[in-house]
Amino acid sequence: MSTGGIIWKLEGSEILNKKYKIITVVAIGILLLLTYGVWQNRRSTPKKMSYTEFLQEIQENRVEKVYLDDGPTIHGFLKDDAEFITDNPRKEGFKEELLIQGIIVEEIRGREFLNQTIGYAVMMGLLVGGLLYISNKVPQAKGKTSKVSGMSIKPEESVRVKFSNIAGNEEAVHSVEELIDFIHNPEKYSKYGARLPRGVILYGPPGTGKTLLAKAIAGEAGVPFYAVSGSDFVQVYVGVGASRVRELFKKARQVGKCVIFIDEIDALGKKRDGGLDGRSNDERDQTLNALLAEMSGFNENEGIVVVAATNRLDTLDEALLRPGRFDRHIEIGLPDVKARIKILGLHSKNKPISKEVDLEKLAQQTVYFSGAQLENLMNEAAILAAKEGSGMIEDDHIEKAFYTVIAGFEKMDRSSISEVDRKITAYHEAGHALVTKLVAPENRVSRVTIIPSTKGAGGFSMNIPPNRMYFKKRDMENSIKIMLAGRCSEEIVFGKDNITTGASNDLEKATSVLTDMVRRFGMSESSGLLNYDVLYENGIREVQDNFLDEAKKILDALYIEVKDLLTENKALLKEIAIRLLAEETLDEEQLDHLVKKAV
Ligand code: ADP
Ligand code: ZN
Repeated sequence: MSTGGIIWKLEGSEILNKKYKIITVVAIGILLLLTYGVWQNRRSTPKKMSYTEFLQEIQENRVEKVYLDDGPTIHGFLKDDAEFITDNPRKEGFKEELLIQGIIVEEIRGREFLNQTIGYAVMMGLLVGGLLYISNKVPQAKGKTSKVSGMSIKPEESVRVKFSNIAGNEEAVHSVEELIDFIHNPEKYSKYGARLPRGVILYGPPGTGKTLLAKAIAGEAGVPFYAVSGSDFVQVYVGVGASRVRELFKKARQVGKCVIFIDEIDALGKKRDGGLDGRSNDERDQTLNALLAEMSGFNENEGIVVVAATNRLDTLDEALLRPGRFDRHIEIGLPDVKARIKILGLHSKNKPISKEVDLEKLAQQTVYFSGAQLENLMNEAAILAAKEGSGMIEDDHIEKAFYTVIAGFEKMDRSSISEVDRKITAYHEAGHALVTKLVAPENRVSRVTIIPSTKGAGGFSMNIPPNRMYFKKRDMENSIKIMLAGRCSEEIVFGKDNITTGASNDLEKATSVLTDMVRRFGMSESSGLLNYDVLYENGIREVQDNFLDEAKKILDALYIEVKDLLTENKALLKEIAIRLLAEETLDEEQLDHLVKKAV
């Protein structure tokens, strides 16, 4: 998640005259170069070590730190500060072995040397650029930059990202399309008294294109794009974050129409935890309140849209999500196979790809990859091909790049979810979807997928019960059946001993609905019409509460009904699961088609 916001510290605002400016910049540049040279020389040439010697050093507990990369050699430091270099065994689990020995491991992606040189060049470029920028800026900025915040925020002037740079994510793009019109003609909407969207939250796993989408909104609307990160606002000193927020909005308002992007909004908008870590809370609360005040404060026809991104919506403070604030929530999920084909296609457009490369097949092999990982994959492949000078990107390059990309991620990464897990998820989700269609056809299943989302560990079936004022006992039982169907399907297909933890959330929800039925709504015969909560609140505890027995009996009976239903329709269940394994996502139409064909 990269924010493009450029934030320079303007320490003090003394005015330099032009001549001094140039001299200062050159002098500082030379000084930095010299310092770097001295620092480089200070480091002795690393000692070459054979791999066995290296193992020996580990044994004797003399290794302090190892830099891991994918090159032929690795280097590091011994505890006595001596630098060493040795062969890279490039074996799986190597990092863990080192970590177990208490060695500090730092991973470097790509060739270290190149990295360092590039890093150095970039650093120098940035420094010199920054200095030039500051020295240019200072004279105009006299008295203008606020002393409170010590921060100046500059928009990215010409955002060239367009919707056409986004692949997949169609729904999300569609839901922000009207924002463009709103930014252009806010008056059109305010004339009709429409309350305009001020804040949009994009939520979903990292690398799915949230920043990209926010940029594209600015790009399509042709307005400046301000990018900041929530963590920029979280400061040690109370009040600093809040004044930065005010500064940001003040700047934005001066520009007029624009898009403000706040990445990692959770850094400042986390649920307030009632002062558990009291100290930092003050600052965060003030910052959050400042943001809320600014958002409610701006005029509806200003054409400013605030877009925020987070990995998890459920950790955000509710105050942020209320109407008039971030009242639009758009989920950006991991791409399914069709979306992956499109993303791969998009990122191979500007690359010479050999005809034998089959992007469709590649899309199938990259389950659980995010857009960023797919982009990374194509890029690594291109780098490999360029290094070899092979003219075209071949299967071989992609194959190698594939391992570089997945090796760079930790074990828990989604891309390592095994085929077995995929199969379990497919049957589990197929169970939910099929039972929904069988017991409550009036419920809409808008989508079934085995791609994990932020809402569930293993994929989900979206259920939209028709709007109703009252729910019948039958409806509540049906929703419990739907919840149980995932587990039940696992049991039928894989056997009683192979059921998984995948149903934990389902069971939680089922228990909660059932508890309400028995204790609040008087829907079970033996518990009668009493409301147990009221009884307990009034200190009446001697009522014989047979809730446990009662609830268990009902749940077991419902489970048996689900089991019968799924056993009867096992062929159909299997068909849905197989389709899910192949296509990962089925929409309502495809599901209906399968069900109708069978019934
Ligand atoms: P996030 O903000 O969700 O973490 P980013 O927007 O920073 O993700 O995505 C990083 C990069 O990954 C993008 O710049 C783009 O190159 C690529 N990418 C991610 N999602 C997509 C997508 N849906 N279509 C095209 N490229 C994508
Ligand atoms: Zn489930």
